[in-house]
Amino acid sequence: MKYANTVLDLIGSTPLVRLNRVTEGIAATVLAKVEYLNPGGSSKDRIAVKIIDAAEASGQLRPGGTIVEPTSGNTGVGLALVAQQRGYRCVFVVPDKVGEDKRNVLRAYGAEVVVTPTAVTPEDPRSYYSVSDRLAREIPGAFKPDQYSNPNGPRSHYESTGPEIWADTEGRITHFVAGVGTGGTITGVGRYLKEVSGGRVQVIGADPEGSVYSGGTGRPYLVEGVGEDFWPSAYDPSVVDQVIASSDAESFALTLRLAREEGLLVGGSSGLAVAGAVKAARDLPADAVVVVLLPDGGRGYLGKIFNDEWMRSYGFAPGAQETTVADVLA
Ligand code: PMP
Repeated sequence: MKYANTVLDLIGSTPLVRLNRVTEGIAATVLAKVEYLNPGGSSKDRIAVKIIDAAEASGQLRPGGTIVEPTSGNTGVGLALVAQQRGYRCVFVVPDKVGEDKRNVLRAYGAEVVVTPTAVTPEDPRSYYSVSDRLAREIPGAFKPDQYSNPNGPRSHYESTGPEIWADTEGRITHFVAGVGTGGTITGVGRYLKEVSGGRVQVIGADPEGSVYSGGTGRPYLVEGVGEDFWPSAYDPSVVDQVIASSDAESFALTLRLAREEGLLVGGSSGLAVAGAVKAARDLPADAVVVVLLPDGGRGYLGKIFNDEWMRSYGFAPGAQETTVADVLA
């Protein structure tokens, strides 16, 4: 019989699929690595397993321990999955700007969610940062993964994502493109691909316009999960050859096209990564093989990128138009 022993054994080994329409006019092969096929729905499942394995091995996390992390999204889901399977308690601290749906996903996996006010300074004892620090300090047996500085984040991608891409392309990959949030993905995958190819593979970061990685100051942008206003230690700029900035409008337009033309319902950071990949691939020869990583699925963004009213309210071109009976019969 073919089955996994637990859901954790389903993490990783995600497939590559060629992009055919959004790459029109491009001679190179552009392959997307579809990370939403991980059981928790994102690439963050990979770092969750590695971070918890390492914390168990080092004794930072012991039986009956509690995982405390400020996170509202994919990292929380990954950690909650691993925690429930291994019998740990999970407490996530989220700012109140995070939607009810995202909090409910974390609770659905069995995590406890503490909501903190957004409209206070980081030093305020009620802030996101203060509350998570205090819980990590005061809960007995608490462990705080801290994905922005934990070296096991990039290590998980060095050990799993990078080798999968090298094996699936039979070593023919020439360019790797990924969005940069904590920097864990690009650092781990990039380092592996550089080493295994003798420095031949070009590593390209995709960044929202305004973020520090592409020379900005942290100016706000709407794409979620990528870009920063500080330089996290999980990011090693020495493995990155080039950073390509794209606007929210470009990222969202490509996100809509990925759903409509490639059948890939993905989040805005995937649109950002593909925007970077398309720009990078434009002048490459036909024998180039570009791999672009799509971190998560689009279901978490139905009220935003895939909602015409939300898109219009920010001045972006909406995707699906309302269709009436008269339109269909016309
Ligand atoms: N996209 C999404 C939706 C994410 O949640 C993240 C993680 N913050 C990223 C992209 C970027 O990945 P990394 O943190 O490894 O740079």
